[in-house]
Amino acid sequence: MNIKKIMHVENLTHFYGNQIGCKGINFDLYKGEILGIVGESGSGKSTLLKCLSGEISPSAGKINISLDQGGVKDFLSLPEQEKRQLMRSMWGIVHQNPRDGLNLRISAGGNIAERLLNVSEKNYSFLRNTGKYWMKKTEMDPDRIDEFPLSFSGGMQQRLQISKILSSNPQIVFMDEPTGGLDVSVQAKILDTIKSIVRDINVTMIIVTHDLAVVRFLTDKLLVMKDGIVVETGLTDRVLDDPQHSYTQLLTSSILQV
Ligand code: ADP
Ligand code: MG
Repeated sequence: MNIKKIMHVENLTHFYGNQIGCKGINFDLYKGEILGIVGESGSGKSTLLKCLSGEISPSAGKINISLDQGGVKDFLSLPEQEKRQLMRSMWGIVHQNPRDGLNLRISAGGNIAERLLNVSEKNYSFLRNTGKYWMKKTEMDPDRIDEFPLSFSGGMQQRLQISKILSSNPQIVFMDEPTGGLDVSVQAKILDTIKSIVRDINVTMIIVTHDLAVVRFLTDKLLVMKDGIVVETGLTDRVLDDPQHSYTQLLTSSILQV
């Protein structure tokens, strides 16, 4: 089987002044793959994800992307407008705080429609049906389609954000600690939902978390970060069951898993 490479990253580096955000990152991402980025707080996970998703411009490095419609693009040298368009339509960013990814002034259905309109689907009943479909898929009550985000619980807001992003069938989904701000019982249910959806629609995803249970549950491949660099990479089961780097060994030992 020939699996398509959709992202190639070389020497990706970002400094905040003199402070390292992330440094010398290399990896390839293939279609349908779920890549986890793990490491303790301050290790550079969010910085790397933001460089990849276009939210910040890295200080150095290269990101080549292959588009569904064919062709490879050098993402970092695209004109700003083209980058924005890619981010709005082909990529999806799920923020840790759902309020950062939702428009609080419009309804649940409006939020999903807003995203779909970026991929130029303008038919009213299509927008509404797709909204309901995705609310159901993320285990929300589709009858609440006309309610505003703030009338939902935090967990439901996160489900709505996920609906909004996935409804436009993005080529890559980026998630940064998507369940980080939620109660543990709610986290587990949302992770179940994410897992069943990614299996179902074969989404390609990069997910940041400090939680090894989450990576074990969701990811195929891992980057382990410390102090801004990747110290170990490999298939998730291999990295977790047979960690080679001393930091990964520490991370997977019970000591740090509290
Ligand atoms: P993580 O997501 O793994 O917790 P971050 O990517 O947020 O790590 O941070 C990596 C490093 O970059 C840390 O040392 C952090 O203090 C620094 N950093 C992150 N964001 C900023 C910023 N906006 N300005 C300056 N330094 C930052
Ligand atoms: Mg972070």
